[in-house]
Amino acid sequence: MQYNDQIRVIKGIGEKTEKVFQRLDIFTVQDLIEHYPRGYEEFEKPIAIASIQEGATLAIEASLVASPKVKRVRNLQIINVMVQDSSGRMPLTWFNMTFLQRTLRQGYHYIFRGKVVRKNGILVMEQPVIYQREDYYKLLKILQPIYPLTEGLTNKMVSKAIGQVLKELDFVKDYIPKSIAKENALMDRTKAIKEIHFPKDRDSMMRARQRLVFDEFFLYSLALRSLKDNKTVLKSEYPMAYPNECDQLLEQFPYKLTKAQSRVWEEIKKDLSSEYTMNRLIQGDVGSGKTVLAILALVMAVKNGYQTCFMVPTEVLAKQHYQTTVEMLEGYGVRVCLLVGSMTAKEKRQAYEEIKNHEVDIIIGTHALIQEKVEYDQLALVITDEQHRFGVKQRETLMGKGRRPHVLVMSATPIPRTLAIILYGDLDISIVDELPAKRLPIKNCVVNTNYRPNAYRFIDHQVAQGRQAYVICPMVEESEALEAENVIEYRERLVEALATGTRVEYLHGKMKAKEKNDVMERFAKGEIDVLVSTTVVEVGVNVPNATVMMIENAERFGLAQLHQLRGRVGRGEHQSYCIFVCGSGSRDALERLEILNKSNDGFYIASEDLKLRGAGDIFGIRQSGEVDFKLGDIFTDAEILKSAAEAVKKLQSHEVKEIFDKNPQLKEKILNKKVGTL
Ligand code: ADP
Ligand code: MG
Repeated sequence: MQYNDQIRVIKGIGEKTEKVFQRLDIFTVQDLIEHYPRGYEEFEKPIAIASIQEGATLAIEASLVASPKVKRVRNLQIINVMVQDSSGRMPLTWFNMTFLQRTLRQGYHYIFRGKVVRKNGILVMEQPVIYQREDYYKLLKILQPIYPLTEGLTNKMVSKAIGQVLKELDFVKDYIPKSIAKENALMDRTKAIKEIHFPKDRDSMMRARQRLVFDEFFLYSLALRSLKDNKTVLKSEYPMAYPNECDQLLEQFPYKLTKAQSRVWEEIKKDLSSEYTMNRLIQGDVGSGKTVLAILALVMAVKNGYQTCFMVPTEVLAKQHYQTTVEMLEGYGVRVCLLVGSMTAKEKRQAYEEIKNHEVDIIIGTHALIQEKVEYDQLALVITDEQHRFGVKQRETLMGKGRRPHVLVMSATPIPRTLAIILYGDLDISIVDELPAKRLPIKNCVVNTNYRPNAYRFIDHQVAQGRQAYVICPMVEESEALEAENVIEYRERLVEALATGTRVEYLHGKMKAKEKNDVMERFAKGEIDVLVSTTVVEVGVNVPNATVMMIENAERFGLAQLHQLRGRVGRGEHQSYCIFVCGSGSRDALERLEILNKSNDGFYIASEDLKLRGAGDIFGIRQSGEVDFKLGDIFTDAEILKSAAEAVKKLQSHEVKEIFDKNPQLKEKILNKKVGTL
């Protein structure tokens, strides 16, 4: 079996299963073995029935008090059995597994492992797996991988396929020069791949993980370095003079720039008028006002006779930036156009034409901006918003559309400066570390589900005052379809629960871009009062009149993501509120949410999150939306990130060349991926 083989070569994977795997971006054998577990299940010693707890998955060693009985309830066949050990008794329940009636025998001892739930006031173990004593004791201490899944794929299928590959694969590619592996005491990569999937024990798994995280960071740093090597310090092709229009614009704003905004604007101005090409990252917490800085820069370039473009990750955001820009620049003689995937072929063709003939000055859009067909004229400035959503390569492609344009990238991810320097090593960094002064801090609360009726009354109250609200439904990892269903159902319930006449709409990932845009536009115009949504509203959306953010099952999201979501409110002059609804009473969940409850500061939240998770929590909580590596976590693995970056820095040019020569597809691959997902 070869690295680049399609997964069809694996025994047991046919056309249908292959399709399912592909939904997780798993096409080749390599993709599969790099589909790492998101955690492990650890088998523990059986405990006494007297000490079981609700909600826990655990094992008991017990014998049947009586033979199993089958009961039919509608189309379910339920087996109930009472078992006992020396400390007490408890019932077990299985659904649709009638064969157990024959296999389970009264008087024999078994080990049962499953989740304990409360049914009619009694603790019951549901669907337990049954083991013979010897078998179970062999499994103790073994970590069973738990994989990210999708509809139609079970954990067993993934783990079997990977097991098969690990048996038959001839070799695993190792990109790291021997000397570096030695210096950093790295486990052999082949061994690491085996151990991450099927670890011998916890220690071994930790070392395997460390190796693989090192590789991720190493390759990432290598990609950055090769970008940098290709670029000598560039003489600016587009030096600019400072135009009056920027000052006019500043005066026309309904507010004054914050000190931080002014400082960063000075930095941008200086870059654009200097002899060298700008390459700058603007980091600023959600709501710190990055968009106006982008618009000022665009105007400066346009008034020097150049074309510019502004790339964002979603159509919703593109539309919104487009509208803001058009409104703001009315009367400035600046021609703005939109270019997004959902436009018709005809509309696109027209846009291409206008762009090529320089009949437009600012082009705002999504990935559509880097399609081959787009030809720019004197493209002097390229801005990307929400940088973490784009790959190094996409940034490159966009730049390649012009002749060495100035580049400005914006990001809301609160990364400490030292790490930012490593992660965005080819960029200068500006930080907007201040929120507009008039902003009232968001009021937060963490509540349980009993509080819902109060929350709805509160939303009614806000809507009556002319405000708007978001309600976020939990994500469903296994299925976007289920997620959509959730949102639609929730909306229906909400229509019942809220005051009559409240305009409630929904938004989810399965909707067509056009429908999404339409809903978002109506929400922005105030034609919708309450928007029930999945996390699609997470990125950048700005509706200052929205004052309530209610997040269902908040415990299922990462803190960074919750912070992003909360950032959708508190953007205007009105007092805003964020209601975190916690669906589980676990202390960990509450403690995490308490961090958000106490603070609205992204940097503080990131650092507290880190402390709470500590180094022990190896898989952390997926910080979706952040610089996102498969295994590595830029916060908890900051030390590994530093050593990997250091190692890459020390490489001689011929060593870099050797790595690429030996692995011809590597360069293409690392540049093609989204930042981080290497
Ligand atoms: P982000 O940094 O998250 O992209 P935005 O650029 O969307 O933030 O700005 C959030 C809101 O703050 C917008 O409604 C914008 O008009 C407003 N805003 C920006 N700068 C200021 C300022 N200096 N004073 C008051 N409001 C501002
Ligand atoms: Mg923004």
